[in-house]
Amino acid sequence: MPELPDLLYIRKYLKKVVERKTITGVTVKQPVILRVAVNQPFEQAIINHTIMTVDIHGPFIRFELSDSVELIVNLMLAGKLQHQQPDEKPQGYLCCSLLLEDGARMNLCDDDKMAKLYVVPHRDYASIPKYKEQGVDILSPDFTRDVFRQLALQHSRKQVRVFINDHTALSSIGNAYADEILFDAKIHPKTFTRILDHDDLDRLYSSIRSMMEWGIREVEKAAQPIHVKVRDHMKVRNRRGEPCPRCGSTIRREGVRGHDVFFCPICQPASRKLFIDWANSGPRKP
Ligand SMILES: [Zn+2]
Repeated sequence: MPELPDLLYIRKYLKKVVERKTITGVTVKQPVILRVAVNQPFEQAIINHTIMTVDIHGPFIRFELSDSVELIVNLMLAGKLQHQQPDEKPQGYLCCSLLLEDGARMNLCDDDKMAKLYVVPHRDYASIPKYKEQGVDILSPDFTRDVFRQLALQHSRKQVRVFINDHTALSSIGNAYADEILFDAKIHPKTFTRILDHDDLDRLYSSIRSMMEWGIREVEKAAQPIHVKVRDHMKVRNRRGEPCPRCGSTIRREGVRGHDVFFCPICQPASRKLFIDWANSGPRKP
């Protein structure tokens, strides 16, 4: 899935190239991705409308169109938005393509066909799963140390990797930056949130902020087309078997709740405290 730094980059780019452009053609190759919550078929609901603004909300990309209609994209795991020039080809499996008045296209490509494209009345997001349940925006002034500590308390029963990945708590951190954040904070991904002490939580909070800022800078610096996932700067993500850039030990991959996580077993040790806590926690009550 696109991460917050990717989404900010996509928003900035699209603001430049598609805002105030009118949609003059609509091609749907995979109707399965469409969710229409207005009283018109998809094509009719958006054709000849002008894209007024582009914004993001959690993992969603939001296009406000003229005449009180919004187009909302959730790229899910593998979806990509592409700004295609007339002499270029679609990047990947084309699900939907919008032709703009300047001859360029905005494509939604997804090999998995899992991405979703919603058309909703202005500001009416009730039909979009998880749209309203986004947690605190981690780049906003609302995301303070105190708020973070409160959230950690509320999610104390979760493993820390699951907690920071939970978009209803923090909006939003995906798998890639979650690994980088825990590596930076030197916390083992399977640590239960309840056993993180004051200093651990402080360090984790600082790492969330600094790793996101780092990601934003790196994605900006890479200056790739918006359909490219910029991940070359990652230190542990997808680097199983490679040396840890901090201690030289070998990066390991494990599963947490069905997700691959990457970490350094030396820099992020499974502490004695962690195992004692597990041992004392007893069997889960039915
Ligand atoms: Zn290490």
